[in-house]
Amino acid sequence: MKTRKLEIACPECGSRDVFYSCTPNCCYNNVCSTCGTTFEPETVTTGGYLSGVIPPDPLPDSTDPTAECAKCHSNAVYLLDDGGLVCGKCGAKLAMELTEIAPG
Ligand SMILES: [Zn+2]
Ligand SMILES: [Zn+2]
Repeated sequence: MKTRKLEIACPECGSRDVFYSCTPNCCYNNVCSTCGTTFEPETVTTGGYLSGVIPPDPLPDSTDPTAECAKCHSNAVYLLDDGGLVCGKCGAKLAMELTEIAPG
C-alpha cells in the first residue's frame, strides 16, 4: 500500500502551502505560509487497519505538515491514493479534523 506525504489545505484560504512549526513532543501547530493562519490537525480512527503500508519516498521532512495518529501517537501519518489517511506505524485508518484555527 503506497502512501504520499501528508498534505493539509489551509482552513482559511485553501492553500496547500502549509508547514509544521513545532516539534512532536510540544504541539502540532501548523502554519499556512500564504495567509499566516495557524491550526492543529487532530486525527480520529475510522475503523480498520491496513497492512503493508509503505512510507512515502522521500520521507517528509521536519517542516512538512504533521499530524499525530489517534491510536499510537506516532507522527507517521500519511496520505493514501483515495484521499484517506493511514498511520505508517500501526496501520490504523484515520480521518483528520483541524482544531485551534487562528486566522493570520
Ligand atoms: Zn491560508
Ligand atoms: Zn498509529
